Amino acid sequence: MLIDTYGRAATDLRVSLTDRCNLRCTYCMPEEGLQWLSKSSLLTDDEIVRLVHVAVTMLGITEIRFTGGEPLLRPGLIGIVERCAALRPRPRLSLTTNGIGLRRTAQALRSAGLDRVNVSLDTLRPDVFTALTRRDRHQDVIEGLRAARDAGLTPVKVNTVLMPGLNEDEAPELLAWAVAHAYELRFIEQMPLDAQHGWKRDGMITADGILESLRTRFDLAPEGGQARGSAPAERWLVDGGPHTVGVIASVTRPFCSACDRTRLTADGQVRTCLFAREETDLRGALRSGAPDAEIARIWKAAMWGKKAGSGLDDPEFLQPQRPMSAIGG
Ligand code: SAM
Ligand code: SF4
Repeated sequence: MLIDTYGRAATDLRVSLTDRCNLRCTYCMPEEGLQWLSKSSLLTDDEIVRLVHVAVTMLGITEIRFTGGEPLLRPGLIGIVERCAALRPRPRLSLTTNGIGLRRTAQALRSAGLDRVNVSLDTLRPDVFTALTRRDRHQDVIEGLRAARDAGLTPVKVNTVLMPGLNEDEAPELLAWAVAHAYELRFIEQMPLDAQHGWKRDGMITADGILESLRTRFDLAPEGGQARGSAPAERWLVDGGPHTVGVIASVTRPFCSACDRTRLTADGQVRTCLFAREETDLRGALRSGAPDAEIARIWKAAMWGKKAGSGLDDPEFLQPQRPMSAIGG
């Protein structure tokens, strides 16, 4: 198992398939993009499947989430999903995507064994979408969402970040829309993980602010009491249920003590936390011929060193070197 000195066990693996993206969300990337990882530094499809195999068969991982950058840009995605779905014990497989291209790929992903998707969508207004993502692709995301639901990649979750002056007033509208389309909406607090270092704590929209805004239109009651376990989202029943809305308050109500995550970057580095400043190289071990047992040992040692928390409240907090898109959100 991937346990740490605080008694947590990581069972959920986030695998970044690429650091590239076809959007430029203002809270994530600068307009001009970033210096992308070179092709030779990226894990190959075989290397990814081998590491997932080690994680699932030797390290107790039960949940795999593919992310990026934009994972739909990875040419071998369907094959990777298919091979991971064939592993035993079979892990649950999900994907976090901006939804562009999902209209064409949802059915194939489902057939390959993908269980679910999270689609990121911050606004229902095409002009605001263009301002937020710097690309005119709103309709593609809406169509991608529909295709995911029709393909049975359910529950389809929608991730939304609210940004001051752009979409901060849209929370109730987004929730009404999500309920009407049977999507599960989750608001994510903006985190200091953008490449431009533009995050300001006093500028961000907090979980309290989001809930206050939603309550102008909906009755919200905590789902199943208030214990959220290792799930990062606090979930609320909307108008008595059955629909729910989630709020992921990584900044104002961190859930580090219940964290069950381990992360693998597209270039084969293990990260214990989104906010970690250290990484452990697995690609080097893979490419120098290390057997599975040695890879498992390195991975375990990395997770043993996981810190208690994100350090966000520490006055000395330093943003990690890699932005969210290169870590895998
Ligand atoms: N490109 C895919 C997407 O947008 O869903 C997957 C990668 S993206 C980094 C994963 C999630 O991180 C998205 O839901 C995005 O909204 C969120 N995200 C990116 N930067 C963020 C930030 N600074 N604070 C909070 N969430 C962020
Ligand atoms: Fe791309 Fe996702 Fe970052 Fe937006 S949040 S720029 S879609 S990686």
